Amino acid sequence: MIEKQITAKITFYSIDELSESEKMLIEAAKSAAKSAYAPYSGFQVGAAVLLGNGEVHIGNNQENAAFPSGICAERVALFHAHAVRPDTPVFSMAVAACQNQLFVQEPVSPCGSCRQVLLETERRFRQPIRVLMYGQNRVAVLESASDLLPFAFDDSALI
Ligand SMILES: [Zn+2]
Repeated sequence: MIEKQITAKITFYSIDELSESEKMLIEAAKSAAKSAYAPYSGFQVGAAVLLGNGEVHIGNNQENAAFPSGICAERVALFHAHAVRPDTPVFSMAVAACQNQLFVQEPVSPCGSCRQVLLETERRFRQPIRVLMYGQNRVAVLESASDLLPFAFDDSALI
């Protein structure tokens, strides 16, 4: 038997401890959350990605009465960014969520599908993605998407 321990590092900051560019990215995610289409869950999520060329692209969750047809904010932001800038790496992503027009108190973490897409984006460009998850009480920060999805499925299984 071989036993391995996989660890993930997460750091919590107050909003005041973040850089101005990080605060701006969080504000972009918060703004995107406000225009999410989430009439069924009432849980509006916004994401903003900072690309290597300095551009910020946003996404928000888009729900549908046929529930599986909806998509999360994180994937909308990533897919849109790479639809228009296919060769540009992602440096960081901010995520913010609100319910009943109030931003959540504690940080919200991306779902499993979004973690998988974040990780592939990171590996595709060989560029760690700093992930900032906003909560009114604190901001959770991961230095790499791989911390969100240890022991992940990836393309090495397909070869
Ligand atoms: Zn998701």
